Formats: sequence, C-alpha cells, structure tokens
Amino acid sequence: MEDYIQYEASDGVATITLNRPDRRNAQNQEFLEQLNAAWERAAADDTARVILLRANGPHFSAGHDITPRAPGDTGPTIMETIPETGLLGLYQWEAKHYLGFSRRWRDIPKPSIAAVQGACIAGGLLLAWPCDLIVAADNARFSDPVVLMGIGGVEYHGHTWELGARKAKELLFTAKPIDAVEAERRGMVNRVVPVAELDAASRTLAIEIAQMHPHALAMAKRAVNQTLDIMGQHTALQACFDIHQLGHASAYAQSGQFVLTGLKGMKAKIA
Ligand code: ZN
Repeated sequence: MEDYIQYEASDGVATITLNRPDRRNAQNQEFLEQLNAAWERAAADDTARVILLRANGPHFSAGHDITPRAPGDTGPTIMETIPETGLLGLYQWEAKHYLGFSRRWRDIPKPSIAAVQGACIAGGLLLAWPCDLIVAADNARFSDPVVLMGIGGVEYHGHTWELGARKAKELLFTAKPIDAVEAERRGMVNRVVPVAELDAASRTLAIEIAQMHPHALAMAKRAVNQTLDIMGQHTALQACFDIHQLGHASAYAQSGQFVLTGLKGMKAKIA
C-alpha cells in the first residue's frame, strides 16, 4: 500500500502531510481514506490540540485523480473505483468520499490549519476549505475549473461562502485561478507568507493556538460553525452537492461518461 499520508504529533500539534508529490497530491480512493484516517487519528489523539494539514512537494493538491493509471501506480483511479451501479453509485461514492469526508473534517472539534503552496485545484479545495484557518504561500493559487468538464463546481460548494457571490461566479465561469493575495483580500485565507516560510509560519501559528484551553477552542469553533449553519451553510452544501450530481447526470446523458471531455484544457492548466 502506498504511503500517501504521513502523521506526526508533537508540541500539541498533529501534522497531517499529503505525500503524493509525484502526482501533485492528486486524490484517489486510497489517498482519501488514508487522509480521513489521519484526521480521525488526530481527533482522538489526546496529545494533539491543533491539526495542521500540509503537503509535500511544490503543489498542495491537483484535485481528484481522474487520470489513467500511471506506470508503477498500483492505486485505483477515481473512475475505476465507482461502483457499477451508475449514477446512484456515483452519488453514494462521492457523498461519502467528497462531501462526507470534508464535512467531517470541518466539524472535528479541534482547530485546524491548512498550509497551502502552489496549485490547489478543484478537489484540492475540498481539503483546504474544511480547515478553520488557511495560511497560503505567496505562490499559492486556487481554482475550480470543472466547468471545462461540464460540471458547475466541485462537490463541496464552499465558493460562495469563501469568496462572496460575484467572485465565486467569476472563479467558476472563467475556470481561472485566484492568487494568494486575492484570496487573502476576500477572506478566504488568513495570511500570506513567502513560500520558504510556509512551514515555519503555519507551525508557529498552530503552536500558539495549542497553548489555549482546548474546551474553549472547541466552543469557539462550534460557535462560528453553528453560525454558518444557521445561515444555511449545512443545507446549502447538501443542495449544491445535488446540483453537482445533476452535472454528472447531464454529462452522462450526453456522452456516457460522468464528465465531458474538456479534460485536455484542464490538464493544460494543471501543468
Ligand atoms: Zn463529482
């Protein structure tokens, strides 16, 4: 089994590292299940008061692994792992591995910080957005270009909450990335640091927060998340997940595939 995810805990901080740098931390089923296991380990780890999610390599995550199997890669691709039960199977698989995992990480009652460098594309947002804080390297760029595949946005619709309505629409309509400075201006990231300082800056922030009373931190986090949910975030995420599935259904009706082939353009943007 590939070691896609690393876990380490010290100084009150559980550090979860995405460790598939040769594939830009693209996510297959094994990757996501290892990542979820690491989050659950951090949630249960009494020595860990803060969870820091970081990535090995130049890019945080290129998103879901929808490419054909690479030579020497034993892990299944996303499309290979979808059960042969058609659209309902796809719905159930994505409800668990995408919306479900991201929601679970969002609600773990410990503060979490994502440290993001390089590309954070589409499914990459599903790893960063559920974190409470985001520290971005100055070379970070965030995008969701799935309109190029006939889909209206990734499975976890954080866009409008994170960026506001107009910028969310621009991000989706143009398929172009926003950079770290713009993301900070919009409130999507907490701070921007030079890429060489990303690890030190995010760890320093994590250790600072780990000094606080854990129950107070949990309550502070719950207060903000409950406020968002009273504003409708929980049901909006579910509603937009269903809209996402309508995109898959539409693509399937047109082409017999769950996404349309705009894939070439998308891969060009990732490179
Ligand atoms: Zn999907």
